[in-house]
Amino acid sequence: MMEKSKRIKKDEKILKKFIQVYCKENHLKKGIKEHNNGMCKECYELFLYAKQKNEKCPLDPKPQCKHCKIHCYSKEMRAKIKEIMKFSGIYMIKRGRLDWIFHYFF
Ligand code: SF4
Ligand SMILES: [Zn+2]
Repeated sequence: MMEKSKRIKKDEKILKKFIQVYCKENHLKKGIKEHNNGMCKECYELFLYAKQKNEKCPLDPKPQCKHCKIHCYSKEMRAKIKEIMKFSGIYMIKRGRLDWIFHYFF
């Protein structure tokens, strides 16, 4: 099994990538200003939120969030991240980046 700290880092990388793709296509290209790390303010805040949830997940081993029975995200944040995962997942499939798809979170 993957060491916990490695798992956290890997999940964080995936989260960031999916949020960056979504933000670029839906926000930055439409003129919303970049705030940090290729994300607008709203997306960056969501990234920090998801990152913190990922680090503090009470389950060990952590399941994929989409299979989780607890669902520690707020309703609003869960809806946002689901939308992002869906959009970016489809975007990556269209570009042949199947390697990312296996990591789908939500
Ligand atoms: S939704 Fe479930 S698996 Fe995901 S971080 Fe929260 S408690 Fe952990
Ligand atoms: Zn954004």
